[in-house]
Amino acid sequence: MMDDALEFIEQNVENAIEDLKEIVRIPSVAAKNEGLDETAELLRGKLDALGFDAKIHEITGAPVVTGFLDVGAKRTLMFYDHYDVQPAEPFDLWETPPFEPDIRDGRIYARGVADNKGDTISRIWALKAFIDTGTDLPVNIKCVFEGEEEIGSIHFPEFVEKNKGFMKADGGIWEFGGEGYDGVQEAWLGLKGIFYVQLEIDILTRDVHSSMGCVLPSAPQRLAEALSSLKDADQRIQIDGFYDGIKPLTEAEWNAIDKIDLREEDIKENYGIKEFLTGLTGRDFKEAYYNAPTCTICGLTSGYQGKGSMTVLPAKASAKIDFRLVEGMDPEDIKKKFRKHLDDQGFSDIKFLWYEGYPAGKTPVDNPFVDVVRRANAKVFDDLKVHPTSPGSGPLYIFQDYVPMVSIGVSDFDSKGHSPNESIKIENFRKGMLRLVHLIDEMGRW
Ligand SMILES: [Zn+2]
Repeated sequence: MMDDALEFIEQNVENAIEDLKEIVRIPSVAAKNEGLDETAELLRGKLDALGFDAKIHEITGAPVVTGFLDVGAKRTLMFYDHYDVQPAEPFDLWETPPFEPDIRDGRIYARGVADNKGDTISRIWALKAFIDTGTDLPVNIKCVFEGEEEIGSIHFPEFVEKNKGFMKADGGIWEFGGEGYDGVQEAWLGLKGIFYVQLEIDILTRDVHSSMGCVLPSAPQRLAEALSSLKDADQRIQIDGFYDGIKPLTEAEWNAIDKIDLREEDIKENYGIKEFLTGLTGRDFKEAYYNAPTCTICGLTSGYQGKGSMTVLPAKASAKIDFRLVEGMDPEDIKKKFRKHLDDQGFSDIKFLWYEGYPAGKTPVDNPFVDVVRRANAKVFDDLKVHPTSPGSGPLYIFQDYVPMVSIGVSDFDSKGHSPNESIKIENFRKGMLRLVHLIDEMGRW
């Protein structure tokens, strides 16, 4: 009975938290290649214990864990999560150590608790609620847990290529989501793409006494000039053809967006600014949020930045830049256009040291699975904002041909993913599990 499954969650919140604590204690940092096999095996064991056909797929990089429970139902639900986490540095900004979970004021703190081990464990417990109470699962379940999401899912396409049949499902729950600024739950139907590149200029054989600046070129100066050529004063990206082919938001998307209050004032206050870029507000702000590509300098390195002064002319300078891409943009195309831009501007000496990227992906707002999620959410939470896409990036495009994905989860606006003192509200963790039980139930009636 469904009621038994719901009651099971209510009775087992503490046990689910213990499970969450166990998995966040493993520092599965993909960027450092730490703790990945161990975490994969832990998850495989949990799925196996629930009666799933659970497997570890060795691919280049961190293994992918899959679980399949075929109950012979008409519909199949997929859960996509990742068991890797961001590095926890800087450690000294954590109030309690990142890999020693701590509960205070109704929140659980640890690296990865929001992004996205809390979601992963909530899914496992929602399934456990059916299985342990002998409640018939009305849908088949597929779980896909990868271990390199935080480093761009670089090898995940390799898994998909080899397991196309497994990737098919009627609906899937993506790896993040939760409560917004105003306490209202949010669902995300898409993610932007990304093109990330590291630029380097290396124009002298070595760093030189800066007195030679009268006759020698400066690497940081040239890099700064190149970077300043990327945008005009109106923030328009100056790369030739950069905006070509961008798909405008559809009428159905605008209908969904018009219902959403993005709380401009709260965002401004949160980030300590008076105005958004170019004074964006209202519908223009929304259009930018959901459908504008970006060009952001993520880091700059050159010369001496230590104590006091050092009169040096640096030989080298480098920068990391990300471009968020929207539907209709291709990372390979952007790479070529960016290269051409630098060459055309006279910066052929600036090299691409490395780069990576993937395109945007979206689930149509009128897909019936979106309504299944909406109905399940309404059983537990007051409301649900359905965002056609997130301003963030993720490899959703990989799933696009196989399964419509919706992102809901147990985080909230204060979760501080990727930052020190990452946390989730225990109340959202509990309700998130209940919502998933309802989701499985609702999907069985679709
Ligand atoms: Zn993340």
